[in-house]
Formats: sequence, structure tokens, C-alpha cells
Amino acid sequence: SAQLINGKELASEKRESMKKEVEMLKEQGVQPGLAVILVGQDPASETYVRSKHRACENTGIHSVSIKLPDTVSEEELLGHIDKLNEDDAIDGILVQLPLPKHINEDAVIERISPKKDVDGFHPISVGKMMIGQETFLPCTPHGVLEMVRKTGIEVSGKHVVVIGRSNIVGKPVGQLFLNENATVTYCHSRTQNMQKHTKDADILIVAVGIPNFVKAQDVKEGAVVIDVGINRVDGKLCGDVDFEEVKEVAGAITPVPGGVGPMTITMLLENTIQSAKARVRS
Ligand code: NAD
Repeated sequence: SAQLINGKELASEKRESMKKEVEMLKEQGVQPGLAVILVGQDPASETYVRSKHRACENTGIHSVSIKLPDTVSEEELLGHIDKLNEDDAIDGILVQLPLPKHINEDAVIERISPKKDVDGFHPISVGKMMIGQETFLPCTPHGVLEMVRKTGIEVSGKHVVVIGRSNIVGKPVGQLFLNENATVTYCHSRTQNMQKHTKDADILIVAVGIPNFVKAQDVKEGAVVIDVGINRVDGKLCGDVDFEEVKEVAGAITPVPGGVGPMTITMLLENTIQSAKARVRS
């Protein structure tokens, strides 16, 4: 059966070397700093914010969380971002999504200084990624790329099929692989004959949000399968891929949990450190 791509292990390897980088930055008088803004009390969001905070602590990154009630006005939220943009101790700003309906998400993302946009969601960051300029890469897509690299398979020229086209996962992950010279196909909710595409994938990336959506019959023998999905079924976490079935067909596969999730946070830490290095240089 398939090689397991262990995201947890890869993440902790990376975090060990990040600790050393943070130490070196501190010796130069700069401690990387991340600010996370959480609006409301969505339990999943609260869990993500806690994990990010803990990961910062373990790596030596200064972290601040700002918790706001779901009644907060857009103006007040923007005011917090303005302050963080000016704060020299903060290298990265992240607003945990989704936001309550009365707040315009686009306006909030656009208020974050592109210099501190460690989520990589600002239109300037997205545009730079699109044209291949250096910028903050979005964390989940970047984590996916790192995991595929870890398998040692050559990405250039391969057929990458992405299921899902959200702005935070599907679209950017396809773009990153295109930048690595892959041939990229996007499938989504309107795609016809989807299996025809997925069956041809050398690398299949699944970001749909439906438990066990991808079955063994959808996958080519020996393909690399990356499961981005995080679903809760009967209190347990599972991905979008029917792991037990697909692992018998795939060449390599990520588990859920312990796959893409830990890598996402690791790439966030990496972006924060990258931003702090720019502060050292300035
Ligand atoms: P989303 O709901 O914004 O997008 C889902 C995409 O799936 C859409 O583009 C849609 O076209 C496509 N889709 C829906 N039904 C489909 C169908 N029947 N056939 C084909 N395509 C279909 O979700 P998202 O924000 O991109 O997240 C996707 C999943 O990844 C979720 O489970 C989410 O929790 C998870 N996620 C994980 C991480 C991580 O760190 N591991 C980060 C972000 C999101």
C-alpha cells in the first residue's frame, strides 16, 4: 500500500530548524511577532487560533491574540489592524476567517499591510504569486507543495488535478504547481465527468469539504494523493479522501489528521520569520 506522507513529522522537523532561526534573529535584536485576530466564538476557529498560538510559543515567536465579540463593528476591527500595521513588534497579522456577515471580509484583508500579510490573502500577495514574484505564499497551498516535494517525485511536467476552487486553497494550490511547471486541471462542483480527470492525475489534491468524497476508483495506480479536507464525523476528524480504500491504490497519501493541517501552521510560522528577516534588513 501507499507511502504515508507524514505531515506531523515533516512539520516538527521544519519547526526545529525554525527555532534556530528565531534564536539567531533574537541575537540580532529582533523577535518575530505574530498577531491573530479572532472575531466571535466559532469553536473550530478558536481551536485553530489556539494551535497557532501554541506553535508560536514552541518556536520562540512572540504572539498576540486579539479576541473581539461578534458584535464588533467593521470600523473597530479595521482600527485594530491599523494599529498592528504600525506596531514594530508585529511582523505578521492574521484575521481568522470566516467573519460575521456584517463585516466585509475583502475590506478587512485589504487593510492588512502587504508587508505583514503572512496568510498571503491580500490581493497584492495573490497577484505577485500569480506572476511568480517573491511574496508571502498562502499557508495551506505552500504546505501541500512542501509535502509533495518531500515524496521526492518531480513536479515538473506532471499532471496535477485539484478538486476545489476556493480562494484560500483550490485556486492558489493549482497556481503554485503551475509555477513549478506542472500541467494543472481544476475540478469543482460544476465539473462534468470528473473521474475522467482525477483518474489521469499524477498528483491529486482534494479540497472539497465532503467526507470520503474521493474513492479508490477515482485514483490512478501510484498517484500522490493530498487530502486537504478537515471534516468532523461523529466527533472524529476525517479528510475528503476515503483513506482506507485509496491507500491501496495510491503511491503516496497524506493522513487526516496529521497531514496538511500541521504543515499549514508551519508555513505560517515560516512566513512570520521571513517577515522578521525583512525587518532586520530594513
Ligand atoms: P470551500 O467550501 O470554500 O470550497 C470547496 C470547493 O469544493 C469549492 O470550490 C467547490 O467547487 C468544490 N466542490 C464542492 N462540492 C463539490 C463536488 N460535489 N464535486 C466537486 N467539487 C466540489 O472550502 P475550502 O475553504 O477550500 O476548504 C476545503 C476543505 O479543506 C474543507 O474541509 C476545509 O475544512 C479544509 N481546509 C483545511 C485546511 C488545512 O489546514 N488542512 C485549510 C483550509 C481548509
